[in-house]
Amino acid sequence: MGPTLDSSYEDWVRVAEGVVPPGRHRVGGREEDGAGAVFAVVSPRDGSTLASVADAGEKEVDLAVAAARWAFDSGPWPRLAPAERGRVLLRIADLVEEHRSEIAALISLENGKPIAESYGIELRAVAGTFRWYGQLADKVCDEAPHTDPGALALVTREPAGVVGAVVPWNFPLTLAAWKIAPALAAGCAVVLKPSELTPLSALLLGRLVDEAMEEAGVPGGVLNVVAGDGPTAGRALGLHPDVDVLAFTGSTAVGRHYLRYSADSNLKRVWLELGGKSPNIVLPDAPDLDAAAATAAWGIFFNQGEMCTAPSRLLVHSSVAERVTDAVIQRAEALRVGDPLDPATEMGALAGAARLDAVRGHIDAARAAGARLRTGGAPLDPAPVPGGTYLRPTVFDRVTPDMAVAREEIFGPVLSVLTFDTVEEAVALANDTEYGLAAGLWTGDLSTAHTVSRALRAGTVWVNCYEEGDLTVPFGGYKQSGNGRDKSAHALEKYTELKTTWIQL
Ligand code: NAD
Repeated sequence: MGPTLDSSYEDWVRVAEGVVPPGRHRVGGREEDGAGAVFAVVSPRDGSTLASVADAGEKEVDLAVAAARWAFDSGPWPRLAPAERGRVLLRIADLVEEHRSEIAALISLENGKPIAESYGIELRAVAGTFRWYGQLADKVCDEAPHTDPGALALVTREPAGVVGAVVPWNFPLTLAAWKIAPALAAGCAVVLKPSELTPLSALLLGRLVDEAMEEAGVPGGVLNVVAGDGPTAGRALGLHPDVDVLAFTGSTAVGRHYLRYSADSNLKRVWLELGGKSPNIVLPDAPDLDAAAATAAWGIFFNQGEMCTAPSRLLVHSSVAERVTDAVIQRAEALRVGDPLDPATEMGALAGAARLDAVRGHIDAARAAGARLRTGGAPLDPAPVPGGTYLRPTVFDRVTPDMAVAREEIFGPVLSVLTFDTVEEAVALANDTEYGLAAGLWTGDLSTAHTVSRALRAGTVWVNCYEEGDLTVPFGGYKQSGNGRDKSAHALEKYTELKTTWIQL
């Protein structure tokens, strides 16, 4: 089973050194080189090249879609009893757990996140997601509405077909699992395109899914994985006429492309999980201001701030602003930024040099606009691992709502502190954004919790906590944070069509 969170740094380095990263597409149950083009996957941990990976162009995407099309139109998968499909998903969960250490090490190497998070959070979520949808597969019921006595109406939920899934690099396997597991449970076939920054863990997952399918006697093609960049491989999938559903997680800017690809091709269903600029409101009656500050710091620096739901705008009542901000800064300065492979590390490397440059650009712009830098703002010098991309946790106060640092998604460990004097002002500030993914609220008053939660235009509102939840609850955004919902039974709606059969008796 390999090391766990109790294992030593040396153990994890040994696992990481022993991982053989997969480098070829998975199409129709086989590994394929494609036309021969390759690209390098570079580790943000130390700038080294982890692997050379087959680079998908239109032709490779076409072959992957053809394999999925066959699996859906002619293969056994959509025609299996739902309980049988469920059993395969449970087996995938087991295989993920068997390979948990290896996959966790690979994610920390390709993405830069701490091993405690890859192993403890991401891999647990991936196995848990396959298990949850495996158990759900045969619990979905159709409807027979009460109609005229002379007729029998059936409303049946049918698999939507071939799903293209395109995901980012920040939670490379969790976000893939949130799409693949409900799609497979519903009876769809999938082509997954991971981010070009983190294709290795996805290719490994493809191998495990094929193993589970083979054991169940299901021919390959139910899940295909093609590595490649967005403007080529992603675009080809988005425009493909044989893809029925495109499930995307990524930036709002790229989400717009997928709507265009759909409009320019076959009007495939497009589901979007996009960016955010989430507010975290601290009212003076919060039950525990220290907990509010500690959670605000944890939330923005978790996963290096590379979180769609990052509480990047701390909106704090002016009467407690100084106390809360000072406590957040203390936490920021105490955070252990270090080697992603060290189990004691709390914040790892940003996902590469381009990300580091982009985040530093936001920091420079905030300073120029007049925000006050309270801590951080620069890379760690020396870097915990030479060649890696490590940034100090950064906090700005005296931020005003018009500044770019308060409006644009930074996707890095950068917190903006804004103040308010009334609850109405806090709600207006919170909603003053094009995004609507998540929000936090700290209050000890039950009525305030309900009324403010109702007033917030966000898909998730956390009260007296942040980033809590489990698979039972839906996740997704209002406004330009997207449409549709991942997780929970609602995710099945993305991957199914409703059919009405009206029988005249
Ligand atoms: P991104 O939008 O740049 O890339 C996401 C995916 O789209 C990648 O696979 C990429 O290859 C592909 N892509 C890029 N350009 C493309 C193009 N022109 N045509 C087709 N495909 C293209 O996002 P990212 O940098 O990988 O991830 C960060 C973003 O993801 C942030 O905005 C973050 O908020 C968002 N995100 C959202 C959620 C959510 O559930 N709402 C979760 C995680 C991340």
